[in-house]
Amino acid sequence: MSKGKNLKSEIDWAAVGAETAELLSRYLQFDTTNPPGNEAAAVQFLADILRQHDFTPHILESAPGRANLVVRLPASAGPPSLPCLLYAHADVVPANPAEWSSPPFSGQIKDDFVWGRGALDDKGLGIIFLQVLILLKNYGLPLKRDIILLIAADEETCGRYGVAWLLEHHPELIRAEYVWDEGGMGLRPANAAHYIYSIAVAEKGALTVRLTARGAPGHASIPHPNNASDQLVRALARLAEWRRPIRLTPPVIEMLKRLAPGYAFPRSLLFAHAGNRLTWPLLFPLLDKDALFSPLIRNTVSLTMLRSGQKSNIIPAEAEAKLDIRLLPGEDPASILGDLRAVIKDIRVSVEAEDMPVAHPASDSAADFFLALADTLKAVGPPGVVTPYLTPGATDSRFFRRAGMKAYGFMPMLLDAQELSRIHGIDERISVANLRFGTQVVFETLRKL
Ligand SMILES: [Zn+2]
Repeated sequence: MSKGKNLKSEIDWAAVGAETAELLSRYLQFDTTNPPGNEAAAVQFLADILRQHDFTPHILESAPGRANLVVRLPASAGPPSLPCLLYAHADVVPANPAEWSSPPFSGQIKDDFVWGRGALDDKGLGIIFLQVLILLKNYGLPLKRDIILLIAADEETCGRYGVAWLLEHHPELIRAEYVWDEGGMGLRPANAAHYIYSIAVAEKGALTVRLTARGAPGHASIPHPNNASDQLVRALARLAEWRRPIRLTPPVIEMLKRLAPGYAFPRSLLFAHAGNRLTWPLLFPLLDKDALFSPLIRNTVSLTMLRSGQKSNIIPAEAEAKLDIRLLPGEDPASILGDLRAVIKDIRVSVEAEDMPVAHPASDSAADFFLALADTLKAVGPPGVVTPYLTPGATDSRFFRRAGMKAYGFMPMLLDAQELSRIHGIDERISVANLRFGTQVVFETLRKL
């Protein structure tokens, strides 16, 4: 876009959308599949664009080929408030080209969509943030706070070379009051007339648990009762039957209350009074059957990996399974390990945590950031309800929240269930309309802040 403009009314959002699509197309052509990540070249590409607009980006290498970009637009209207950090990760999950209708790193623009792994998660958001930073600078809008843009490596595995590393080694560069991250979005549920704008204020804790059964090896023609695979299968059968209790956390209660008016009776009444335990005998069965709510109301356990045996005629001495467990806020990971052992009821099957979740406080849904974003969505977006949200998945927001920052997860995009399923799925893409919408939402929100 041209430099030196000074009237916000001049912004041609259609042109901004088209330019954002071009930039995203080029950014998507860097293969940043993690592992191994290799984000450095993609980050360098973004830094070059920023330099063309007279920014001074910092590139911080956490390991060979693993790079993070930090750039700051200083406050211009004083006295400054604490900064707002715009954050998007540069790495993506793997894509199998055989399953895609065009190569996942082609960055093709076709049918008013930009196609490629990362288009939604999370390179689209990164390019939106970059465009807004350039717009804010070129239009010289007065800012009460520094705006920091962070593009980091390594979100899709563990953050070790990205946000967690930065918070340990360069906290001064990214310290902010508010963090804008991925998480919720504008989603239109099937058959619903309006959107749900879910802004993530908390997330479940991710815990990986390894179950190992140890028995005695032997020839398969002479079965015996100490077969490790048999033990493991029995343990897993007990876990599959395990009914964990439902618990409503504050973000979910608030979400139910805000969404209540959009539902018909009896949901409208039960949701509105979700905080009252008298409603629970009727409310819980409804939530349990609802795909939106069921992962948000209890600790979940998913069996994800199984390994045992080397040959079909040998009884294996060892069998192993991995469980992906997502804990509600406030749950103690140690006590869930005790629960697993109690359900399995077999000391020959060991239960060990591979990694423990990071405990973090929820972000305040009455804070200025949340209110500014909610106001913008009401003004710019199609009719909908803005609600705080508990993310069932993990994002880097957990690191920011633990470091005392208020992190909010919201991809400023309007999606339906089908588009949403392309995240980490096949033929991921983002519409040019969403790039335009997202840029406008971020721009207007930051103006309000
Ligand atoms: Zn992501």
